[in-house]
Amino acid sequence: MKKSILFLAGLALIMLSACNGANNISVDKNSISFPIGGGEENVSVTADGSWNVKECPDWVTAEIHDSLMVIKVQNNETGTPREGDIVLAGKDDVTVTIHVKQATKCTHITPASDKVEFEKEGGTQTIAIDTDGSPQIEAPEGFTATYDNGTLSVTAPANEAGSKRGEIKLTCEDQSATIYATQKGNVCQRCGGTGKITCPKCNGKGLVHVYVAPDLRDMVSGLDYCSKCGGHWIGPNDGDIVKGSGRIKCPDCGGTGQ
Ligand SMILES: [Zn+2]
Ligand SMILES: [Zn+2]
Repeated sequence: MKKSILFLAGLALIMLSACNGANNISVDKNSISFPIGGGEENVSVTADGSWNVKECPDWVTAEIHDSLMVIKVQNNETGTPREGDIVLAGKDDVTVTIHVKQATKCTHITPASDKVEFEKEGGTQTIAIDTDGSPQIEAPEGFTATYDNGTLSVTAPANEAGSKRGEIKLTCEDQSATIYATQKGNVCQRCGGTGKITCPKCNGKGLVHVYVAPDLRDMVSGLDYCSKCGGHWIGPNDGDIVKGSGRIKCPDCGGTGQ
């Protein structure tokens, strides 16, 4: 008998709260991320009636102080990241959800590939990342990279300049990984992007033939340095020369290769 009275009382309470339940509930944040060590975060709740905490993960506590909710999470000792929802309920099916995440000790970051290559038109590519942490991403100039739930997305805009390259760094506590990003660009047709062409004066040999009088041909080689590609005399004797490199700066692109 006592049991059923309690039950009825409980039922009355539920009905009462259902009658005054909020039609609108809003919170000032819909997601909270805690570090491995846990912590405390305040959420401000605005409602036009009564509300209660309908769902809460067992590793999260939600203390209610009027319109302020204090969310507390302890140190994460599970070894894996965890997440869950706090659901606040008002009238009937009026609910609002606060997503709670907590990191853990990161033990590895393993990208499916250590490079990503773009054509000059650019675009977006994804790389699967095997990790038990939430890596921070650092992208080089000319690329953007974002990480979400095991996928790294790398974007490169169309590239009208020369080819570019850079390193994308993923770090999480003492773990890190590097992905090499490259993008093709405009390339100088004349030098093929190298910025240098074969020296036309010496045809790449670094030495040029010079006229030697017939009676001296036994003593003199008849070869001299090519000054066009950097060859020079170091003295003091005639043969004390440094030959040229055989390559000169590409005159079309000024050595930039673009
Ligand atoms: Zn060139
Ligand atoms: Zn030369």
